[in-house]
Amino acid sequence: MRIDEDYPELREAIGRLCARFGDAYWRDLDERRAYPEAFVAALAEAGCFALLIPEAYGGLGLPLRAASVVLETIHASGANAAACHAQMYMMAALLRHGSEEQKRRYLPGIATGELRLQAFAVTEPESGSDTLALRTRARRTDGGWVVEGSKIWTSRAEHSDLMLLLARTGPSGREKRRSGELSLFLVDLRTARGRGLEIRPVATMINHHTTQIFFDGLRLPEDALIGEEGEGFRYILDAMNAERILIASECLGDARWFVQRASAYARERRVFGRPIGQNQGVQFPIARAYAAREAAELMVRKACALFDGGRPCGAEANMAKLLASEASWQAAEVALEVLGGFGFAREFDVERKWRETRLYRTAPVSTNLVLAYLAHKVLGLPKSY
Ligand SMILES: Cc1cc2nc3c(=O)[nH]c(=O)nc-3n(C[C@H](O)[C@H](O)[C@H](O)COP(=O)(O)OP(=O)(O)OC[C@H]3O[C@@H](n4cnc5c(N)ncnc54)[C@H](O)[C@@H]3O)c2cc1C
Repeated sequence: MRIDEDYPELREAIGRLCARFGDAYWRDLDERRAYPEAFVAALAEAGCFALLIPEAYGGLGLPLRAASVVLETIHASGANAAACHAQMYMMAALLRHGSEEQKRRYLPGIATGELRLQAFAVTEPESGSDTLALRTRARRTDGGWVVEGSKIWTSRAEHSDLMLLLARTGPSGREKRRSGELSLFLVDLRTARGRGLEIRPVATMINHHTTQIFFDGLRLPEDALIGEEGEGFRYILDAMNAERILIASECLGDARWFVQRASAYARERRVFGRPIGQNQGVQFPIARAYAAREAAELMVRKACALFDGGRPCGAEANMAKLLASEASWQAAEVALEVLGGFGFAREFDVERKWRETRLYRTAPVSTNLVLAYLAHKVLGLPKSY
């Protein structure tokens, strides 16, 4: 297991790409709640969506650590990778569990960025963190499936061609194995919208393009099912470990950005005739945030190494996400404090990043649920959920 894999050329190339999309670009999108089309197109052109896809399907066949480096670099530049990160981890479910026919049909297009697989419909208004309680149902009919129900917080559905959908196919009610009632589907949004599938945007405090989705008799073909019926929950667990590690990588990038901005401001800003950074009350919190970030990075690297080695990494993926999201939030709070009143001014971008990085304590899994997982699965304490 190697934890020092760092892909310096990739870091440099992505750093150069991000420099073309500076603070003003992201600030403007945030104000207009607009989707970063030009940035996503640039990432596609640079081959970012091909990173994790095997060469046989038109990809570059690199390990998860490469994607981790890319997403960290994007966030460390002040940008936000939300508009594209899902493509990287969701593709894993299709790659590992899809049929050969599905992989040949979709993966080459996903690799070039021509086909966008950016929407992951799991959470429902009623079920929340209790994924196994979801109610959206896919019923078998002649030659396919019919879907009824609704999802919430399905991000980027309006900007995606394809969507992974977790739906109930087994009997309703609490069964012995609730996870055995769920199946995973690949929905082609280009044909589904307006034919039993409706998307409504949800306004939020960040520019995240999240939506609510309503299914009213949506017909899916037989081959929309990924893998075997009733195995959907198991399939998304793979994607969820990758998701936690990649989100943690974004948090590391955010934390680096906040620490750099706070340090730069503390060196320049003079009050009482000296730089504010000369005061230990200002420099110690920055130093502490830096140390927390570096420690979290070690866990992200370990989780990547285990994932890439095909070894169990549930605990490490969860701890990486927990520690990195705490480090980025700590750094965000410090940066806002160090900038004083200017931290609240839009043109300094700290308030925007502060809002954005807060999300990771809640999604894709909340801090409490990570702690409950560690307490139960790792420490053997009684299950609390
Ligand atoms: C901007 C945004 C984008 C998102 N994108 C997606 C997406 O693309 N696809 C998708 O499927 N979902 C998405 N989500 C949903 C996200 O994964 C959920 O919001 C998250 O998992 C928490 O679920 P919930 O909001 O229903 O909170 P709830 O489950 O209702 O929890 C509310 C609070 O109670 C706490 N809590 C609940 N149960 C327990 C317990 N047993 N022990 C201790 N504490 C508990 C939680 O930690 C949380 O603090 C997104 C959410 C947001 C806000």
